[in-house]
Amino acid sequence: MAQRQLSVVQNAPGELFVDSSCIECDTCRELAPDVFGSTDSGQSFVQKQPGDDAAWVRALQAVVSCPTASIGAERTSKEAARSLPVEFEPGVFRSGYSSESSYGAQSYFLRRNDGNVLIDSPRFAAPLAKRLDELGGVRRMFLTHQDDVAEHARFHDRFGCDRIIHAADDHFGAEIDLGNEPRRLADGLLAIPVPGHTRGSCALLVDDKYLFTGDHLWAWDGRLEMGRGVCWYSWPEQKRSLRRLLDFSFEWVLPGHGRSLHLPERQMRADVESLVQHI
Ligand code: SF4
Repeated sequence: MAQRQLSVVQNAPGELFVDSSCIECDTCRELAPDVFGSTDSGQSFVQKQPGDDAAWVRALQAVVSCPTASIGAERTSKEAARSLPVEFEPGVFRSGYSSESSYGAQSYFLRRNDGNVLIDSPRFAAPLAKRLDELGGVRRMFLTHQDDVAEHARFHDRFGCDRIIHAADDHFGAEIDLGNEPRRLADGLLAIPVPGHTRGSCALLVDDKYLFTGDHLWAWDGRLEMGRGVCWYSWPEQKRSLRRLLDFSFEWVLPGHGRSLHLPERQMRADVESLVQHI
């Protein structure tokens, strides 16, 4: 539970606050970007108190989704807890409920005609599982890499979903192992191996529009980034994997950690080319 006496000094005065236990996972900044900002050190803070009911719903979704309970508010968040996952594009949702065991990685949910998909694992929570049931359950669980699997087993037990992960990052016996070439999983779903951050990192390209990147690629201040400091397997491999993405078209980059980015396809391609040149 967030503690007022540990409140970060940058918080805007008011009911909502972030305390110093924040682990900089970006979940709150993605769910409520109008309310939460980033300090120079990377921790979150309340840059603006919610100004209306809609802003409060987004802020309270962040309260229940914070993996370390670092956000405090005096009002109840029960209604917000039942409102996740939140749809931000047709059929594309942010799951919320980030798990501390995956260092607060963000996960996503896709509502699809041929079976819904969870991308990486949120924290297992009863209100989320109930809402996923109402949305049609989960047929597939795509795990971008070994670090963000969190409570995959509980989702598998509850929904009977196939877990999909690259063989090199599979430490639990997934139903579907991925190899080293792009693989079509279903209509509009393409798994793309992007080794580097881990040996078995994979991205998921959805409808040639949404690229879910795990910890391979993310955005910060509106620009694409990769991080050598968080590359656990091979930086040369990760750079090759970035170049491989130039074989594909997409408009969105949706990471586990870091910020998402939405650009017209041609501009996104130019941004990937620019990053290839500069890393
Ligand atoms: S959601 Fe993540 S970034 Fe936001 S306060 Fe919690 S730990 Fe920090």
